[in-house]
Amino acid sequence: GDPKKPAYPSVTTPVILNNRHPALVVGGGIGGLVAALALAEQHFDVDVFEQASEFSEIGAGIQLSPNCTRVLFGLGLEAALRAIAFVPQGAEMRDWQSGKVLSFSVFGDTMVRDYGFPYLHVHRADLIQVLVRQAAQQPQIQLHPGTTVSAVEQQDNQVSVTIHETGNAHSKFVSGAVLIGADGIHSVVHRALFGPQTPTFTGNVAWRALVPASRLPAALVRPMATAWWGPNKHFVHYYVRGGDLVNCVCVVEKQGWEVESWSQRGDIKELKADFAGWHPNLQTLIAAIDQDALYKWALFDRPPMAQWGRQQMTLLGDACHPTLPFMAQGAAMAIEDAAVLARCLAGSQPVAAQLRRYEDLRRDRTARVQQGSRRNARIFHLAGAPAWARNKALQLAPGKPLHWVYKHDVFNDFSNECG
Ligand code: FAD
Repeated sequence: GDPKKPAYPSVTTPVILNNRHPALVVGGGIGGLVAALALAEQHFDVDVFEQASEFSEIGAGIQLSPNCTRVLFGLGLEAALRAIAFVPQGAEMRDWQSGKVLSFSVFGDTMVRDYGFPYLHVHRADLIQVLVRQAAQQPQIQLHPGTTVSAVEQQDNQVSVTIHETGNAHSKFVSGAVLIGADGIHSVVHRALFGPQTPTFTGNVAWRALVPASRLPAALVRPMATAWWGPNKHFVHYYVRGGDLVNCVCVVEKQGWEVESWSQRGDIKELKADFAGWHPNLQTLIAAIDQDALYKWALFDRPPMAQWGRQQMTLLGDACHPTLPFMAQGAAMAIEDAAVLARCLAGSQPVAAQLRRYEDLRRDRTARVQQGSRRNARIFHLAGAPAWARNKALQLAPGKPLHWVYKHDVFNDFSNECG
């Protein structure tokens, strides 16, 4: 045995989650931080381990739909989120070349009327900052930036993580009553639970950039989420930070480049070539992008999993259901997971049973969103006659495309449970 490793007490009764047996959250992205807040709300102690030296995100936007603003507002974040958000008036799909509007849905106050909560566009760094500020005010939450988890283990009724702190040559062990892998698509917790499983490249590369709105002609970018659909590509833009910045996400099918990282820079010349011949508005927008504000990201995927955890360990967010961005629901699913997980752990059953209940409550919905996002990738990128047929169908049947996603109240899951 390892001399640094503590001997575990031989416990036979189920460990109850309390201040001597905290919840260990691996990963302090959007999912991990919301999980910490939701667990603290249920009076649990939580340790969050984040490998990055600061809790931060690169410059990019994120759309928060009513199903997840419901959860975030429930955690007391409404005022803080409204202060950093932009409220889109709608979502529109436009033809890549002519600019013709193919489909339009009203957002704004209609979202609040239909679903009780707004649709918000935010800068990811602003969102992380709101979550970290709130977590710092909760005495039950201990944030550990600059701390990489290299191994996880369960023995008897305790879980433990091996951590490496930046600047400290020695590793440490921390134990707790429950372990939550919120460590993204390349999750070490996922690997520890189920063995190595490499995510597959989807053949799509996403470009991301933020452009100061002041650089653009007035009215070039409408106050909504605009998606331009074209053959094998699409381009999405929307305002964040109260309208000061325009977030651009441009997805292109290409092979031969498979780096998946938030911080990988892209070459503006390549982006220009990718969208040559697209609508003049997009040419103006691309011309305003700074080379050093341009990132490139290969999109990876993993099929829905039959099982998310074992004993007192589970997964959350991209670690168990990485979701392509074509429904703008990846982070929303992580946020929903966090709320359901905390509510389950507040139940009176042993921790392991509550984790299986959480997984059962979340598996189908997250799989449906994963599959829907994949399907959208194909629909957005159609060309020729199939694109023409798609556009006709949109004209004939306008509606509420993601009603089933947005209307969902995670807390209703519990009342619908059978057994
Ligand atoms: P991550 O954000 O990946 O966070 C994992 C964290 O764990 C990271 O901070 C990482 O540093 C840390 N970590 C990893 N390993 C370790 C370790 N060993 N030790 C310690 N820390 C570790 N979703 C939406 O809801 N709306 C959108 O509009 C949207 N747009 C998107 C656009 C693009 C181009 C992409 C690629 C995704 C988009 N998504 C969107 C999806 C969303 O970004 C992800 O689903 C979301 O970030 C997942 O959050 P997470 O917390 O599960 O994982």
